[in-house]
Amino acid sequence: MKLKLGDREIGLDTRQRCEINFISHAHSDHVSRSAKRVICSDETALLVSGRYHIEFEREMPEGFELVPSGHILGSTALLLHSDQGRLLFTGDFSPRDRLFLKGFKPPKAEILILETTFGDPRYNFPDTYEVIKESTDWVRTQLESGRSVTTLGYSLGKAQVLCSMMEKLKFPVYIHGSILKMNSIYSQLGVELRGFIPYAEARKRGYFDNGPFILVSPQKMAVDTLNAKFTGWAMTMQFDTDAAFPLSDHAGFDELMETVRKVDPSVVFTVHGFKEEFAERLRQEGRRAVSLSSHQMKLRDFV
Ligand SMILES: [Zn+2]
Repeated sequence: MKLKLGDREIGLDTRQRCEINFISHAHSDHVSRSAKRVICSDETALLVSGRYHIEFEREMPEGFELVPSGHILGSTALLLHSDQGRLLFTGDFSPRDRLFLKGFKPPKAEILILETTFGDPRYNFPDTYEVIKESTDWVRTQLESGRSVTTLGYSLGKAQVLCSMMEKLKFPVYIHGSILKMNSIYSQLGVELRGFIPYAEARKRGYFDNGPFILVSPQKMAVDTLNAKFTGWAMTMQFDTDAAFPLSDHAGFDELMETVRKVDPSVVFTVHGFKEEFAERLRQEGRRAVSLSSHQMKLRDFV
């Protein structure tokens, strides 16, 4: 999405290069690889350059403010102060505190651009610490009965939460190679994670034959383990795994509603996931709400 401010063009989590690109967090679908002038947090800058090997200059133009959004380390929303009022672009966010992450505290704004990945009432997530306890207990039970377990989650964000959960169990933890670099940047940024041995090395040294272990990986690997997936979609979907736990890095439906109430905007634009359905719900509550489809790239088409 692009935003025209006077004669300036700001890219909001777009893959295209704009005059200035705001990058809310380091997940690949939010990052322009060709961006030269970038607004983002210190943590996101480090994660983006470490993950995608790109160089750019950081900027923080007047009137722009970053608000931590609790999705992954360094993720932020963008709050824009202008003569027409305040505009808040949430990027991906979660209002829940989770281990080393603080939940998003939404500020007030007149215009809200809201990510609605889980904007459907079937996605109201159970208490995070209940899910952590239940899933960790499940993994421990398998290990104690002699079975190894692969915990499946995206290599940036979810994997570090899983590493942090799994290192508390008294069993060896191995990680997929793609997680290694991200863990080291997390550690550099103050999130203490153990120095886990990568999958390839553990395999080469025959460690998988030494009894039950945990593997943290974004995908199933060629090793005999049970598999447990960690995703918000586990609320409704069946996976080809032995277990699935609804540990999400996004806001659930009620949390999205609560966020809109707290921001209290005069208009809401929804993006991602259940954007049409969520905009309709907001209209039923008497709010002005429009879902943005991918071909409608400019907000000025709506306001
Ligand atoms: Zn994301």
